[in-house]
Amino acid sequence: MPFFTLGLSPALAAAMAQQFTTPTPVQSAALGPALGGKDVVVCAQTGSGKTAAYALAVLQRWQPPAPHVPRRAQSLVLVPTRELAVQVGAVINTLARAAGIAAKVSVVFGGVSINPQLMALRGGTDIVVATTGRLLDLVDRNAMPLQQVRCLVLDEADRLLDLGFAEELARIDALLPAHQSLLFSATYSAPVRRLAEARMQSPVEVSIDSDSQPAPAIRQRAILVDEPRRTQLVRHLLLQEEWPRVLVFVATKYAAEMVADKLRRAGLSAEPFHAQLSQGKRSQVLADFKASVVQVVVATDVAARGVDIAGLPVVVNYDLPRAAHDYVHRIGRTARAGESGMALSLVSADSAAHFALIEKRNGLSLPREVVPGFEPQEAAPRVSLDQAAGGIKGRRPSKKDKLRAAGPLPPVAG
Ligand code: AMP
Repeated sequence: MPFFTLGLSPALAAAMAQQFTTPTPVQSAALGPALGGKDVVVCAQTGSGKTAAYALAVLQRWQPPAPHVPRRAQSLVLVPTRELAVQVGAVINTLARAAGIAAKVSVVFGGVSINPQLMALRGGTDIVVATTGRLLDLVDRNAMPLQQVRCLVLDEADRLLDLGFAEELARIDALLPAHQSLLFSATYSAPVRRLAEARMQSPVEVSIDSDSQPAPAIRQRAILVDEPRRTQLVRHLLLQEEWPRVLVFVATKYAAEMVADKLRRAGLSAEPFHAQLSQGKRSQVLADFKASVVQVVVATDVAARGVDIAGLPVVVNYDLPRAAHDYVHRIGRTARAGESGMALSLVSADSAAHFALIEKRNGLSLPREVVPGFEPQEAAPRVSLDQAAGGIKGRRPSKKDKLRAAGPLPPVAG
C-alpha cells in the first residue's frame, strides 16, 4: 500500500487508504520532509491534494495533552478566506476521526459573531484553522494562546504573503515560538518566493511540475463576443450545452449582483457570491450550489481560491481576471481531483489585448471561437479615426468606437 511507505503512522496511512487508492505526487514529495520536521515550500497546481498533505503532517505531529493540562494550539493553519477555513477544517477533522486521533480542531474566521468561537475555545484547542484577522481578535481577547505552536501552515501562501496580509502575518509571527513552516501555493511570484524563503530555515522546495503531475483535464476555450451580449451568450451556452452547474467570474461585486439578476430574469437559478454578502449568505449559496439547487453562481475573485466544489464542470471568465496568475486559480475550480472540466473565457474587442497577455504569461495559445448568432460586431480598440468612421469593411463602428475616435481611450476594464 503506497500510503504506508510515506513515513505516516499506520493509523493515518490507513485513513488515507480508506478514501484514496494512491498518494498524489504532492503528497509523495512533500510528506517526507514535512514529517521529518523540515520547513517546506510546496508549489503545486490547484486540486493536487495539498490540503491532505499538510493535514497529515499536522495530525502526525499532534501529541495528546497531558492530563489536567489545558489544551494549547500545537499547529496553526492560516488561510486567506473563510470558505477555505471551513473546508480545510473539515478535511483535518475527517482525517483525524478516520485515524482515531482525538485532536480538537477549531476553525475560526471573521464575518460572523465572535462569541460562539470564544465559547468553543474554552478548554483550549489543539489544531487551529484560521483567517488572520479573527485569529488576532481572539489573541487580543486572551482566547488563543500561541506559545505552544510547533507547526505553522500557510495555505494559498502567495496570497497570505501579499501586502494585504503582511501586517497581520507579522503580528502573528511575533507571537509564535520557533516552529516548523509549511507553505503551499499554486503560484509564486519571484518577490513572494524570496519573502517566503526569508522566513524559513533552509526550506526544502517541492515543485510539482506538469510533467510529473498529470495536468487536470481542463479544456480551455476563448470565445469572442461583444461585451453587451455576454449575459445572453452565457444563457445560450447553458441551455445549449446543458451544463448542470456553472461558476461565472466577474470583476466587481456590482457586476456579480447585476449579472446574477439578469440571469434570474432570464429564468435561470443564479446567485451572486462576493465579499460583501454576509457569511451566512455565502455559506448558503455554496451549499445550494453544491446541492444543485442553484445552477449559476456569479462570483468575484473571492471564490477563485481554494473553494472545492466537487463536480463543477464549467468555469466562465465573464470578466477576465486582472492578474495572469488569477486565471490559473479561477480555472482550477473545475477539474478537481481527476474530474474533467471546461474553462471558458469571454473575450471582447476591449479585452482582447489583455487576454493575449494572460495567455502569454501562462504559456497558452487558444484558438478564438465564435458562437453562431453571437458574432462580434465591435471593432478592436485603438482603431484609427478613419476606421472608427466606418473604414473597416463589414464592420459598423460601435458607439464606443465613435467615442474613442473623438477622445482619449478610457482605461480597459479588467
Ligand atoms: P486540494 O488540492 O487539497 O484542494 O485537493 C483537491 C481534491 O483532491 C480534494 O477533493 C481531495 O479530496 C482530493 N484528494 C486528496 N488526496 C487525494 C488522493 N491521494 N487521491 C485522490 N484524490 C485526492
